[in-house]
Amino acid sequence: MAVEKNPCNERGCLGMCCWSNTLYLPATERRRLFPSVKAVRIDELAEEEPPAEEVVAFGGYVGTAMMEYYRFIGACRYLRNGECGIYEDRPSACRNFEVGSEDCRKIRFDEID
Ligand code: SF4
Ligand code: SF4
Repeated sequence: MAVEKNPCNERGCLGMCCWSNTLYLPATERRRLFPSVKAVRIDELAEEEPPAEEVVAFGGYVGTAMMEYYRFIGACRYLRNGECGIYEDRPSACRNFEVGSEDCRKIRFDEID
């Protein structure tokens, strides 16, 4: 069976979007994949604060799903040698982030046409 090539590594990227990022996730998913993180109210989040390693702010509902913002400073706890260590079970926000999209290219400081 052919081994699937990693489109991110082919672009020379070792997981730039997996560093110091914010994921917007259904609360159930956040609790399953990132349990026991410090929770704060969204109006208490301050950019000037000393960076917390992980912070959750309650973000309201999308349909019936309660959503949360999950922020992390530094490498995501699942990053392994530039690749996602839980690729098959990665969060929906990571699954939906398109390789080569404008946001991806911005993170990589790639030139946008
Ligand atoms: S999606 Fe983009 S920024 Fe994220 S690891 Fe892949 S190439 Fe890098
Ligand atoms: S869960 Fe995987 S894809 Fe998502 S930020 Fe962490 S290492 Fe990157």
